[in-house]
Amino acid sequence: MENKARVAVVTGGTRGIGEAISVALRDAGYKVAANYGGNAQAAQEFTERTGIPAYKFDVADYEAVRAGIAQIEQDLGPVDVLVNNAGITRDGVMHRMSAEQWAAVIQTNLTSCFNTCRAVIDSMRTRNFGRIVNIGSINGQAGQYGQVNYAAAKSGLHGFTKALAQEGAAKGITVNAIAPGYIDTDMVRAVPPHVLEKIVAKVPVGRLGKAEEIARGVLFLVADEAGFITGSTLSINGGQHMY
Ligand code: NDP
Repeated sequence: MENKARVAVVTGGTRGIGEAISVALRDAGYKVAANYGGNAQAAQEFTERTGIPAYKFDVADYEAVRAGIAQIEQDLGPVDVLVNNAGITRDGVMHRMSAEQWAAVIQTNLTSCFNTCRAVIDSMRTRNFGRIVNIGSINGQAGQYGQVNYAAAKSGLHGFTKALAQEGAAKGITVNAIAPGYIDTDMVRAVPPHVLEKIVAKVPVGRLGKAEEIARGVLFLVADEAGFITGSTLSINGGQHMY
């Protein structure tokens, strides 16, 4: 049966958009491993709720990622599908942004993709199959006040996607990005209500997106039948930014 034996790793897969992606992949018959960074309670509750195993490692840490992926491969088998979803914000205008805020966001949102892709790429090349989806952002496409670090990292992710897509094409490995608009998760709930109100007013669909609406895009891109879709960015943003 299609996809039955495919192994999928979702970074930041225990909460928010990542949780919806993990669950959608499980429901479609994938063997899923959900990674998380530090919120052990959320991860435990997620596993109890979904039956999906959770693996703690910091995606910003090269060696930790190698060890985490090795453990997943030992438990579930070689990784066929990698969804780079883990991400953080450390907002601040440039004239107040610290070097730490800059580095944390670049490491966690961009260098993380190097770390995870590097850990799975040899095996994908050997097996002539791979599906990589990087979760970018509307703010990587359009920029955003107070998010120089985040916009730079997410924009970098879109370039990363196109370059790796070219390298993977002859080996059956597709690499695509999804650029979500504003989705109703903890990350967006942290935005002050008066700011959020202004953002929603700019969304033609007239509401925040749902995590499940991003997961639907991931399922589409990672399907065995999606082998001709590579290097593309799928915007899922309620019409807020037409790129
Ligand atoms: P959440 O804050 O709800 O969840 C983030 C997830 O990432 C958690 O599982 C968290 O783990 C994990 N994570 C964070 N840092 C690390 C780390 N260093 N190592 C491993 N895991 C880590 O985020 P969202 O669901 O809102 O966002 C998911 C992705 O979508 C992000 O990349 C975000 O930038 C992007 N995005 C979100 C939008 C939105 O509107 N929500 C819009 C556009 C893009 P833990 O639980 O342990 O903290």
